Amino acid sequence: MYDVIVVGGGIAGLVNSILLSRSGLKVALFEKKSYPFHRVCGEYISNEVKPFLVRNELFPEELNPTEIANFRLTSINGKQAQLSLKMGGFGISRFSFDHYLFQQAESAGVEVYQNSVVIDVRMTDDFFYVATKSQVYETRLVIGAHGKRSVLDKT
Ligand SMILES: Cc1cc2nc3c(=O)[nH]c(=O)nc-3n(C[C@H](O)[C@H](O)[C@H](O)COP(=O)(O)OP(=O)(O)OC[C@H]3O[C@@H](n4cnc5c(N)ncnc54)[C@H](O)[C@@H]3O)c2cc1C
Repeated sequence: MYDVIVVGGGIAGLVNSILLSRSGLKVALFEKKSYPFHRVCGEYISNEVKPFLVRNELFPEELNPTEIANFRLTSINGKQAQLSLKMGGFGISRFSFDHYLFQQAESAGVEVYQNSVVIDVRMTDDFFYVATKSQVYETRLVIGAHGKRSVLDKT
């Protein structure tokens, strides 16, 4: 029996699982893909979240994120407009960042099930059943971090 099962290993699921596991809970995370993998993403992360990542030792300094302070819009005929970004952000490959967070999750003691699609979540009075194609797991709590395009989101 787990304390928490996290469904989905994007940024939300990985960060949740790391912090909960560090706080002493028995946590499992299910991700349907296998790390590392590419995501469709602009790969710009606002500095709004940097203090949170630094505070929790999750800022990926060793991946050399690029500081981004300006925004430039160009048209196909060469016209351009530029403005400086007040808060700014950092640029980082999601392939690398998600893989880094996955490694942090494993170090924090999260049981990560890769290539594992959660097909159903059921609630009883006392706990949840979380089912993959091959097995059913029991847990006190479930966090749905499967993103808004998951079939699970509809059910
Ligand atoms: C084209 C595009 C560009 C973007 N660019 C930026 C950007 O530059 N900067 C920015 O900050 N944000 C950007 N975003 C938004 C950003 O990608 C999302 O806000 C962020 O990924 C949401 O994280 P998440 O962890 O909630 O969900 P997701 O990243 O969607 O992660 C969900 C995870 O759950 C897994 N999953 C789903 N269903 C199941 C299941 N049944 N069982 C097991 N696993 C499952 C998926 O494989 C996935 O890994 C962009 C989004 C798009 C579409």
